[in-house]
Amino acid sequence: MVTKILAIIKRLKQIYGREIKMAKVIQEREKCVGCGACAAICPKYWEMSGDGKSRLKGSNVVEGKHVLVLEDVECNKDAANACPVKCIMVEE
Ligand code: SF4
Repeated sequence: MVTKILAIIKRLKQIYGREIKMAKVIQEREKCVGCGACAAICPKYWEMSGDGKSRLKGSNVVEGKHVLVLEDVECNKDAANACPVKCIMVEE
């Protein structure tokens, strides 16, 4: 899924001839302790799930990590900074 999105972005760059910067939000979900900080700070992208851990909305599992590709990281940096076990990463 992520590969397809990156291919679409590459094609759009070719068509429109401009750089489209994309970012990645990554969660190592197995490390999540379910504190709820991310969901409280950034509810557009995070929610608590039935297993007591948070879920990155719209993400796909890539090599065991939950990954969301988006243009604007918005509140995800704040969520990453608030995470007590540092299992949220933002790559710009
Ligand atoms: S802030 Fe970190 S530990 Fe807390 S629910 Fe979110 S991902 Fe899990």
